[in-house]
Amino acid sequence: MNRKPTGAEIRQSFIDFFVEHKHTFVPSASLVPGGDATLLFTNAGMVQFKDVFLGTDKRPYTRAVDSQKVLRVAGKHNDLDEVGRDDTHHTFFEMLGNWSFGDYYKKEAITWAWQLLTEAWGLPKDRLYATCFKDDKGNIPTDDEAAGIWNQQPGMQPDHVLFFGRKENFWEMAETGPCGPCSEIHMDRGEEFDNLRGLPHRCGVNGECTRYLELWNNVFIQYNRLDKDTLEPLPAKHVDTGMGFERIVSVLQGVDSNYKIDLFKGALDAVRSLTGDSPEKMYANFTPYRVIADHARAAAFLIADGVVPGNVGRNYVCRMIIRRAARFGTKLGLHEPFLAKAAEAIIAAYGDFYPELVKSRETILDNLTREEVRFARTVESGTAYLQGMLDELKKSGQKTLDGRNAFDLYATYGLPFEIARDIAREQELEVDEAGFRIAMDEHRLASGGGKAMGKMGGEDAEFYAGIVKELQNAGKLGESGVEYNPYEWMQTEGLVLALVAQGQAITEAGAGDRVEILLPKTGFYVESGGQVSDTGIIRSHPQFSPQSGRTGGELGWEIEVTEMRKPSAGAIVHVGEVVFGHPKAGDQAVAMVDASRRHDIRRNHTATHLLHAALHQVLGENARQAGSLVAPGHFRFDFNHPEAMTPEQVERVEQLVNEAVAADYPVTPVSKSRDQAVAEGAMALFGEKYGDVVRTITIGDPDHRHSYELCGGTHLDRTSDVGAFLIVSEGSAAAGVRRIEAVTGRGAYELVARRFKMLKQAAAALKSAVEEVPQKAELVQDELAAARKQAAALRIELALSTFHVQLSKVQTVGGINLLVMELPGADKETLSQLADRFREKYPANGICVIATVSGEQVIVMAAVTQDLIKKGLKAGDLVGHVSRQLGAGGGGAPHLAFGGGRDAAKLSEALANVPGWVEGKMN
Ligand code: ATP
Ligand code: MG
Repeated sequence: MNRKPTGAEIRQSFIDFFVEHKHTFVPSASLVPGGDATLLFTNAGMVQFKDVFLGTDKRPYTRAVDSQKVLRVAGKHNDLDEVGRDDTHHTFFEMLGNWSFGDYYKKEAITWAWQLLTEAWGLPKDRLYATCFKDDKGNIPTDDEAAGIWNQQPGMQPDHVLFFGRKENFWEMAETGPCGPCSEIHMDRGEEFDNLRGLPHRCGVNGECTRYLELWNNVFIQYNRLDKDTLEPLPAKHVDTGMGFERIVSVLQGVDSNYKIDLFKGALDAVRSLTGDSPEKMYANFTPYRVIADHARAAAFLIADGVVPGNVGRNYVCRMIIRRAARFGTKLGLHEPFLAKAAEAIIAAYGDFYPELVKSRETILDNLTREEVRFARTVESGTAYLQGMLDELKKSGQKTLDGRNAFDLYATYGLPFEIARDIAREQELEVDEAGFRIAMDEHRLASGGGKAMGKMGGEDAEFYAGIVKELQNAGKLGESGVEYNPYEWMQTEGLVLALVAQGQAITEAGAGDRVEILLPKTGFYVESGGQVSDTGIIRSHPQFSPQSGRTGGELGWEIEVTEMRKPSAGAIVHVGEVVFGHPKAGDQAVAMVDASRRHDIRRNHTATHLLHAALHQVLGENARQAGSLVAPGHFRFDFNHPEAMTPEQVERVEQLVNEAVAADYPVTPVSKSRDQAVAEGAMALFGEKYGDVVRTITIGDPDHRHSYELCGGTHLDRTSDVGAFLIVSEGSAAAGVRRIEAVTGRGAYELVARRFKMLKQAAAALKSAVEEVPQKAELVQDELAAARKQAAALRIELALSTFHVQLSKVQTVGGINLLVMELPGADKETLSQLADRFREKYPANGICVIATVSGEQVIVMAAVTQDLIKKGLKAGDLVGHVSRQLGAGGGGAPHLAFGGGRDAAKLSEALANVPGWVEGKMN
């Protein structure tokens, strides 16, 4: 190639190279790890294959190649500190990988890596280095095998094969589990890349300067770590590689920064067009540009994967990076929203390979701008407040700002921790991160948003994987484990293959025991895609009931199934309680799904698809599903939408769904390849794991589909079976996410019946016919308002006449006409009127204080004539004086003020103190 290859071409050439070596291309998984609650974001290529390494899941291929979207800005891998400062780290980046699942190993991996780098891509051999593992603790064998293979590569310089210890060259997924030595490929980019030239430093592979660049990590998974000191060889060995895509592109395009590759050019140009900087000027002040380009790209990919800006968890991260980019924008003089412009260029550069960006274009741009606008409102007060705290800190000679203060800043001004830390660091101070996280967690728990992150359940998975393997060896289970067909089998028969209680296999259980039971096949649906698990019963087979000799033997046994789980690949477990009898491993059993409950679930599931389609019609394509719960009694549907739906929109959606129900469309499931389904426009969900063969649900005529989704759930045969569809509520589920709760079929009938009954009760109470309830209710309201008005007038009249009597009790204190009185049953309005009356009688030189008690609450009013205000007698002060004695406060204008308190018992005394206060003021 004479011209420089583009980034897209380089990505494709990596994929093609491994496809030629019989690898299956696997699309990138979502940034939101599917089914792994322990991990915030996909942070390495292996995340989507974790189960395969653990042996709890299988794939139809043993060699794979991919370009995985990863984000390293939270948890174990957090490169945020590097981003902006250096030219080789991003928050979001693409990791190119080739994979062997128990197929090839070191020899092929290393040979192919060398061929790709030096032959296909033509990198100079004398510039490349390979590192291999040599245990610095001396316990794990040295990886001489890898080193030997590297040394055999044509043109590899013998002194370029180096050894490093555990930190660099031994890769572990977690405290236990699959692990192994790794080999990294580094490139010497030349002396001119050394950022520490002239200074004493360690210049070399894994050194201190930027001359040597790590390109690619090849991990050889060959051990299973049992504990801190024990490694056990794995039966199958795997290869897991990760190459930093932007880094290799920078090398192949001959530029000295990841940020100078073609894929970033558009975004940087867009920012430059706003700042007016020339490329030279930009490079001279590259940090803010790097941050903006990086964060705009990360935010665009996050939003495309359904993670919009919000307050906690993943949404917090999205918010934080947008705000951080916006703050770096202000450093370039950008004070209007600008990220959408950068994101547009990102979408243009990446949209072909990652079509989700194009699909979510509007959502991405819209969310970015909204978030920038939101942040602009508070950023100045937030940073000013922070600066105040930092100044205090400096004065006191301390270095670290309390994490709680940082959290308050976030909670009050929306200033994310990471930005507060940036600002602190610019002044050589720090912010306590642990304290911030604790405060945030406490807040989250207090506000009910904290869902405990699920355990990985490694032990449980292993236990069941063991059971499945044993049953397979004994020929009692096929290769794929328990057969599963919730679509066709409402009833199955088979032997009880395993009975488990409290994590242990048992041979027999008794009434009341909570057990898990494994059968050779089942039609019980296992919760997935939002649809809840089936319930039902398993009982002993009538023809094979256990021989008598035991009490209750003739009756057999019965287990009520309340839950389903899938602890490991091939294991599907019914969870329930023994109702009667003694189930034994080996008994013949019949399992029956609760059919009517299942039917309700099917109605609701089909209705979610109709709802999704109706939302698209009414709100547009961006109203995409963000989650759902499909239960028998009701369902919940979350979708991306920035604001509350109007009542008209809700009504319209409800109507459209009911029209689709009445249209009696056929509902047709078809299994096909994922690629084909997506190409045909089937809607897929983010964060869901899909295999290569997917189940699709078409509603309507296949030539004129009403709805088309990837879905593993159970559905009706025709839409009319939904019966009726009613929206119970529409509200907010999270920032940018709305939630609809709805009912169908029996649930809808029950809702209507209940509401109708209430309507009848209302009619009876109003003494009207059902049809006339609205008019009657309005009439009653009008009557009530009139009566209230009348009552108020009477109250005032009554108060006035009492008041007139009291007016004679006006005392003179220091020459001032002072009226202090208590008046039961008055409200604020009445009290104001009385103040006017008092002024009519005493236009000058008068003060009146009137208090009223209603229940526990005391209201105090004070009025002062104009001439006295000038003398420093203010109604507000007077009310404050009285209210404080009642345990509260109050105030207002100098001529008229209200206050009060809860301590009614102290009122008489407080009022008795008024003349003294007035006198005091006069002196
Ligand atoms: P480094 O030490 O450079 O941070 P790493 O050891 O964290 O790299 P791995 O976890 O082995 O990297 O990831 C595999 C490859 O991904 C690396 O060889 C590198 O090319 C690339 N990479 C890692 N982190 C980043 C990042 N933040 N931005 C861009 N590329 C990265
Ligand atoms: Mg790193």
